[in-house]
Amino acid sequence: MTTDVLVLNAGFTALDIISKEESIRMLYTSKAYTVVESERTISSPSITMRVPNVIALLNYKSIPKRKVGFSKLSVIYRDNLTCQYCGEKFTMRDLTIDHIIPKSRWAKVKRTSKRNWTTWENCVCSCIWCNNKKGNRLLEETDMKLSRKPYIPKYLPKLIIDFKRAENKGWLPFTGWNVRLINSPK
Ligand SMILES: [Zn+2]
Repeated sequence: MTTDVLVLNAGFTALDIISKEESIRMLYTSKAYTVVESERTISSPSITMRVPNVIALLNYKSIPKRKVGFSKLSVIYRDNLTCQYCGEKFTMRDLTIDHIIPKSRWAKVKRTSKRNWTTWENCVCSCIWCNNKKGNRLLEETDMKLSRKPYIPKYLPKLIIDFKRAENKGWLPFTGWNVRLINSPK
């Protein structure tokens, strides 16, 4: 994992994280240049060169606007790995998606036969303990509260990078709108 290289667009927007080998290939073929070097070197019989931590493309690459697709993972990232009930941060392993209005109560509450309960507005990131505690109850039947109203995100950044990792690799100055930094809990 320590050999990964951050790729920037010609305008210095973070685009991707690629392998060391791939980055060297891009440097050799003049598709990119080094922005930040690492301490490590790579050697071939004829040349020794520094492995980059950050490279930038020479030619601007247009980025298509991406619609944010709904997924369990997207909900967890929208909510920043934070349980929306107890407000604590967890690792993926301890996180689930809670349906605010439980599936079993949906038809009655919404007065519909449509099973459209899996939406950005009805799903939040929840730790397994809060999820268990809430069970099949409606929020008003519990003493639990949402820390914020769930919303449809306008965009999700392409890259989700651990803050410490970005710091260690000198990526922090290049983490703009296309990157979300997360603090992974220990
Ligand atoms: Zn919780």
